[in-house]
Amino acid sequence: MSPVDPSSRDHRRLGQQLDLFSLHEAIGPGLVLWHPRGAFIRKRMEDWWRDAHLARGYQFVASPHVGNGALWERSGHLAQYRDSMFPAMPMESGEVFLKPMNCPFHLQIVKARPRRREELPLRLCELGQVYRNEPSGALHGLFRARGFVQDDAHLICAPEQAEAEVAEVLAFALELLGIFGFHDVRVLLSSRPARFVGEVAAWDAAEKALHRAAAKVGVALELQPGGGAFYGPKLDVLVRDALGRHWQCSSVQFDFNLPRAFELSFDDGGVQREPIVIHRALFGSLERFFAILLEHCGGAFPAWLMPEQVRVLPVDDAVVGYAHEVGRWLSDAGMQVSVSAGGNLGPRVRAADVEHVPFLAIVGGREAQARSVSLRGRNAEALGDMRLEHLVEKLSGWLAPPPVRPRR
Ligand code: ZN
Repeated sequence: MSPVDPSSRDHRRLGQQLDLFSLHEAIGPGLVLWHPRGAFIRKRMEDWWRDAHLARGYQFVASPHVGNGALWERSGHLAQYRDSMFPAMPMESGEVFLKPMNCPFHLQIVKARPRRREELPLRLCELGQVYRNEPSGALHGLFRARGFVQDDAHLICAPEQAEAEVAEVLAFALELLGIFGFHDVRVLLSSRPARFVGEVAAWDAAEKALHRAAAKVGVALELQPGGGAFYGPKLDVLVRDALGRHWQCSSVQFDFNLPRAFELSFDDGGVQREPIVIHRALFGSLERFFAILLEHCGGAFPAWLMPEQVRVLPVDDAVVGYAHEVGRWLSDAGMQVSVSAGGNLGPRVRAADVEHVPFLAIVGGREAQARSVSLRGRNAEALGDMRLEHLVEKLSGWLAPPPVRPRR
């Protein structure tokens, strides 16, 4: 028997129990409402993501939710992907579509002025909201929604820069997945299919770059010969969760179609050359990754992500004032804190356990006298008595987001 009952980990159930998010017929199928607790966790994920991207030499861009039909025509989405797009919105100037992907916008930014070899690689990133018209039967909570955020980036580089770029992306992906507790990964390489665009030599070079990237970061590749999209080879990173299931999250995808469709070029010492375009996402979809993480940890998110990090529990009414003072100390130090008073201590401790609060600061007369707390971690782990100054220092360390690493 599996040690974890999968139904108890259903993210839709946990999302409701822990008041994280909801989906409503009143809003529309596959459209997500983030509640304050869920949105807090998401904010922390986004903050780390943004800091890590800045440290690694990415530049942030932002783009609209809709774009002209002509743009989606040019990118090939209307020819290849129309069934997954929401229907056209007729406007005076022509048809407009909700964006299923961010790529055309990012490439239009690249095209906005002439580019020189010296400014490559361009690494343009965006937490981009996209909309896909998934069949209603395929919708499944946050795993498959109609509106979601892609943690998207497009790398525009000279062909000779591609290998270093994909190695860096793969290392970045493994770091990010590890930070969220996924250390057991599989990496799949999908190579040239029978029908493809671009030159065979470019495909071969790209596949070689993906092989070398995997070797450089020390992961074994599982090959999917002929499994690539018509426009380029790719790597997919799958994580294994606490229930032993595999989920595809990160991807690194070469694209030999879009540079031509958008007539991209850069000046290399007076010669116009065509750049390489690489699509990449690390979480994949923020909604889907959140659901995978929620089912993986059962709601006991890493402490730095938790919307409530410390709960102060006075043992009786005589020390409620002191409990609030402790709460203020901790919240002044930037922690997410609450105070739970009234009634017996036992049920309050159990309630905190059910809600997976990472730290409980229990205070009685003795602690008030000593200006200390009795600290408890998850699973009733006793962390000892701590004076307030020491408590703030310790908790600040334990609750800090993982440090971001600069580009190697
Ligand atoms: Zn893209």
